[in-house]
Amino acid sequence: MALTGPPAAIPGREDQPDRSPAPPPSGDATEPVRQATPAPPSERPAGLASAVTRTRVSTVLAILAISPLMRLAALRYAVPPGLPSRSGCDACGAPVGLTRPWPALGPAARCGHCRARVGQPPATVELAVLAAALLLALAGPPGGALPALIWWLGWTIPAILVDLAVHRLPDRLTVPAAAGTWLLLGVAALDADPGHWLRAVIGGTGLALFFASTALLLGRRGFGLGDAKLALSVGALLGWHGWPVLLFGLVLTFGLSALVSLGLLATRRANWSTHLPFGPFLLLGTTAALLLAT
Ligand SMILES: [Zn+2]
Repeated sequence: MALTGPPAAIPGREDQPDRSPAPPPSGDATEPVRQATPAPPSERPAGLASAVTRTRVSTVLAILAISPLMRLAALRYAVPPGLPSRSGCDACGAPVGLTRPWPALGPAARCGHCRARVGQPPATVELAVLAAALLLALAGPPGGALPALIWWLGWTIPAILVDLAVHRLPDRLTVPAAAGTWLLLGVAALDADPGHWLRAVIGGTGLALFFASTALLLGRRGFGLGDAKLALSVGALLGWHGWPVLLFGLVLTFGLSALVSLGLLATRRANWSTHLPFGPFLLLGTTAALLLAT
């Protein structure tokens, strides 16, 4: 399931065929040589800007195009622990998959056979994907870390929808999210300071170990092991941009979780033993920190 868009993010590459001509001979002969070059130097900044815009627009389109895949992932894994993945409509059993994606994997979320609702509520996946795509296009982090963030969102948005539905983060979504994020950050590190990659590895490993230790020591009162696997990629994405960004992301995540918990307690929609899914706060805190601090 390739969830990244086409790796078109090579801004400025179009300017490179600008083979620099041999030093022109002095005198009148200079003029014809200059006219023969394809792009006048004055157009270069505009060309670069339009290449960046094209990259961002194609990123948005690529992300939107994968929303049926994300709907399928959320539908398949939003089942209680121990049950096999869902492969069709709950009401009539009609299979739902990539060979027959419509209308079950479209925004209407209806079974094509019995018209019952299938999977996530109508338009939720599409709106989440559209919001993520627009935020990335308008305020995405610069440079090499963008493909890793897009990959991460592609797997983590369905994982969070599953977490909201059945309170678990499936390994089938969190592990590829972490593996691809680490790999893409490693590729980005080839063109960047290797310290970024080192921080990402330490951040991801450290955060995951912290979450896993609370799961093992505190049981249900700690974080889940699914949260720990999601933390592998969260820590790497935040750590890549620096320790302050990692700290900022964690403050946002825990602050948001505390606010929502207090709100639910105050309105008596939860009590002290209610177990809230933590994945959505990790997604929101991480995304907000990356958009605000990079
Ligand atoms: Zn049906």
